Amino acid sequence: MSVWAVLAAAGRGERLGSDRPKAFARLAGRPLLAESLERLEDSDWIERIVIAAPPGWEEPSILVAEEIVATKVHSAITGGETRSESVRLALLEVPEEAAAVLVHDAARPLVPEEVIERVLSPLGEGWDGAVPVLPLTDTIKRVEGDRVVETLARGEHVAVQTPQAFLTEVLRQALSGDVSGATDCASLVESGGGRVKAVPGDPRLLKVTDENDLGLVESWLEAAASSAD
Ligand code: C5P
Repeated sequence: MSVWAVLAAAGRGERLGSDRPKAFARLAGRPLLAESLERLEDSDWIERIVIAAPPGWEEPSILVAEEIVATKVHSAITGGETRSESVRLALLEVPEEAAAVLVHDAARPLVPEEVIERVLSPLGEGWDGAVPVLPLTDTIKRVEGDRVVETLARGEHVAVQTPQAFLTEVLRQALSGDVSGATDCASLVESGGGRVKAVPGDPRLLKVTDENDLGLVESWLEAAASSAD
């Protein structure tokens, strides 16, 4: 099965408070983007990669790819106003022959190969898509302003990560309608009646939103490097 990856990297990342977009924040001496890109490049499953870059950062994205010799990078397109828009625009680069697409957030720098395999495998078993999930440990409540209005059944809810895998045609269809308000691709596929499988996620797929997260991922990288020595 031919699999293309879309790397969503076009967010502004305002919570990092940096003068550059989040994908270009420094992580262990490299732009954050380099980490996930390198892992997708090294994956046995991925054939080509399209990067959705922040406006004006298309060329720097290609330079990052060149620096790490990521030969699978097909293009760096200009991302959209929202994540879904960015993915929709990147998908225009993906050819008909690509049976499946793996959509990943550049904000999650560590992408284990096992998770890529776990989300792609269900596509060969009749599923339209698959997402990595983690169980919740906190109690989940619904609030209106600062008033708690409901406590949800924790066992029925999960936290959802990326990479998310889809049959290309199903994802194209899901992204062709109104995508406003969607925070992931799977929600659009589900609302169109698609069958999405939940597979085990991985805590290493932490999404970097602030300086503390950058520090944490950096410490994991250092620990992995020293245990490899
Ligand atoms: O904003 P959020 O943290 O949900 O972003 C998740 C991922 O989507 C990030 O990797 C970000 O770069 C990407 N994104 C994008 N285009 C946007 C907004 C976010 O590619 N307009």
